[in-house]
Amino acid sequence: MGIPSSKNGIHLEDIHDHTCLFCAELETTQHLFFDCLVARILWSHLSEMFNVTLGSNLEHTTSFWGHNKRFEVINMTTAGVLWSLWKCQNNLFFRSSSWSSMQVLCHVALRHLRSWTSLCSSAGQGALEHILQQLEGKSVEIPRLLPG
Ligand SMILES: [Zn+2]
Repeated sequence: MGIPSSKNGIHLEDIHDHTCLFCAELETTQHLFFDCLVARILWSHLSEMFNVTLGSNLEHTTSFWGHNKRFEVINMTTAGVLWSLWKCQNNLFFRSSSWSSMQVLCHVALRHLRSWTSLCSSAGQGALEHILQQLEGKSVEIPRLLPG
């Protein structure tokens, strides 16, 4: 590997030999949580379910966090998804093709969000469970939604 320089736009802090385990692109925070194929698919499903654009970037995602009463279920879901993306990337076990990574990611997110349901208000719990059921349905469809 060449010496990183500003000439090629690569900075030292980006070079930890971090390659995205889902898609083999360079792993940056923006890539891992938002731009990676598996993240984009998951965010697009969730955006559809909530009828609000989710998963553009960290600023946009955290902009809901200051209004937790109003966006309780969205916030719980986005926190669970971010946590699951991080968790999956940190586990070499999940190095596999995109769509199976996608299924693993969905299952990890579902498992954690279900364990967090009790942290929601009683109204939020029902709404969260409704979203999780939809997500579970989507996770079954995933292999058919992707090419190859
Ligand atoms: Zn990726």
